[in-house]
Amino acid sequence: MSETQAHNLLVLNTGFTVAVDGPGQRMVVYLKGCNMCCPWCAAPESMAHRPEVLFYSGRADEPVRLSEACPMGAVRVGPDGVRRDTLVCASCDDFPCLKSNSRAFELAGGLMSVQAIVDKAARYRSFYSKLGGVTIGGGEPACQFDGVAELLAGLREQSIHTAVETNGSEPRLPELFPLIDLLFIDLKHPDDDQAARITGQGNRVTLDNIRHRYEQKGAMVVRICLVPGYNADDKTVRAFGEVLSSIGRLNIELLPFHRRGEVKWRALGREMPAADAAEPTNEHLQFARKMLSIYGLNVS
Ligand code: SF4
Ligand code: SF4
Repeated sequence: MSETQAHNLLVLNTGFTVAVDGPGQRMVVYLKGCNMCCPWCAAPESMAHRPEVLFYSGRADEPVRLSEACPMGAVRVGPDGVRRDTLVCASCDDFPCLKSNSRAFELAGGLMSVQAIVDKAARYRSFYSKLGGVTIGGGEPACQFDGVAELLAGLREQSIHTAVETNGSEPRLPELFPLIDLLFIDLKHPDDDQAARITGQGNRVTLDNIRHRYEQKGAMVVRICLVPGYNADDKTVRAFGEVLSSIGRLNIELLPFHRRGEVKWRALGREMPAADAAEPTNEHLQFARKMLSIYGLNVS
């Protein structure tokens, strides 16, 4: 990497996975900050473009000590237990509550230099074996475009396989394609207006980026998270098939909505908007799989 490049990335965390975020064993870098607000997001702590503190009131075994941990008065003990006022937290930058070492407070997000991430990735080279590598996810990686470009270039210099998980809404995304070995790209809804209403972003740029990658014959998996009540009815599944098959014989991964992120929404002081959505049944998934296959898509 040249000395003139020196980006820091806002990172939620890093971890290791096997065969879920790309082939083989992988280090995954989860970036913080997203330009969408999907009601079913399983990682809502990745949305804000700044570090923040999650508050798990269920872990609050000493309420008085917890209220004392916040000098801004955001944590109060009331008849219903301990509550945290997130409006107060929104203007807090140095998080003195974390010094209490209570498990009720948890930091989400911190800066890491690109060089530190590349060095860490290189240290685990033997773990990846032939197939694996590094996956950059989020949040939305393209929200930190220049830093991600630098990270991908650094990984390429190290000959480490790269995958990126994106919502695809960044118009400059194709600039990164030469540095991405495998692209995972979400399509939230086949209809532009509905996508904008539900997630805050329409789908036109995402579809353009899918088309662009397909025409370049770059490795790509289009991910659809099926969420009953939002995008999983028969008509919408057919519309997914129509829109995507008009681009080509794409690889599709169907992901069923789950509620495992709900606890994090609460720890951020919010209710998960899709909390009432049902998790799709196996029959539902089979139907969607069959329907998309009829449109000539490769569905897994
Ligand atoms: S983030 Fe700041 S305001 Fe919020 S609980 Fe912690 S110390 Fe208090
Ligand atoms: S695009 Fe991904 S990270 Fe962003 S809000 Fe939607 S599900 Fe969450």
